[in-house]
Amino acid sequence: MKKDKILVIGACGQIGVELTLALRKMYGDANVIASDLREEHELLKGSGPYVSLDVMNKEMLHVLVIRHNITQIYLLAAILSATGEKNPLLAWHINMASLLNVLDIAKEEGIDKVYWPSSIAVFGPDSPKESTPQHTIIEPTTIYGISKFAGERWCEYYHNRYGVDVRSLRYPGLISYKSAPGGGTTDYAIEIFHEALEEKKYTCFLSEGTYLPMMYMPDAIRATIELMESDKGKIKVRSSYNLGAMSFSPKEIAAEIKKHIPEFTIDYAPDYRQAIANGWPQSMDDENARNDWGWKPEYYLEKMTADMLKNLKETVK
Ligand code: NAD
Repeated sequence: MKKDKILVIGACGQIGVELTLALRKMYGDANVIASDLREEHELLKGSGPYVSLDVMNKEMLHVLVIRHNITQIYLLAAILSATGEKNPLLAWHINMASLLNVLDIAKEEGIDKVYWPSSIAVFGPDSPKESTPQHTIIEPTTIYGISKFAGERWCEYYHNRYGVDVRSLRYPGLISYKSAPGGGTTDYAIEIFHEALEEKKYTCFLSEGTYLPMMYMPDAIRATIELMESDKGKIKVRSSYNLGAMSFSPKEIAAEIKKHIPEFTIDYAPDYRQAIANGWPQSMDDENARNDWGWKPEYYLEKMTADMLKNLKETVK
């Protein structure tokens, strides 16, 4: 068992719950402190220490880091894309201040490693849509994307200027069955499974041909841990790595679900989230992640759909 002491901030969110549980398996339950604004998530209860924390309160965060001799911080607290568009100034404030608080404390206290996720939302309408490269035009048009892009620059700055070992991935839309999504534009790809099982029909808030990069949660958790466990020398990108797995449209995922639930039907009523999706890439070029630290996805549409339905059926039982 490794000797690190890890703090996960935003541990009760869609990624945080599963990441905390995975880290507890690796590092020992007592060595991974979960924290969030919300009440402790059901799936975390009894599995390890939990602290109520507002990451915007820098002093409290600093005290927590010192008191528990924290050596690694995973910062997952954020306002996501769809929610961000409803309150842009709040999204900017929270997404920036949370990261700067963590980076600055990491610098002050000599924290070994920091993880902070970026997103495909850093790309904008002028970026190449297919196989979007690591380095290309980056002109985000959502406040979420703008905050993620600025965050990436801050991460690289803290690494280059102060030697903070901060690592980051540009996650695609993440699909999971354990914890609920937090207000993103790709949330349809989770809702569709719940509605297919419960109602046998789904009205999608994106149009049928909207292709977006997606990833199944087990791949996202593995990517995060593999990046964080890689030797420092292998991490060549200190802003944020492109990360890819699959790309599909609402029509394609509906057809895949229909193979398991023949009576399932889908219709389309695009809303404000369509404009957000239109500005994003359709698929990612993640060559740098593959070459630098060996990234390789395991789940594509068919395998992910079968696994989602199997697991959701068991939870609903
Ligand atoms: P989420 O919204 O499900 O979870 C975020 C958690 O942070 C919530 O539990 C929330 O209560 C907590 N939080 C919010 N404000 C806080 C504060 N002030 N102090 C402490 N905790 C606070 O989000 P998620 O989907 O788990 O995303 C985690 C990270 O991954 C975010 O940075 C997000 O931008 C990024 N990301 C997610 C996706 C995705 O598809 N889920 C895709 C790309 C990037």
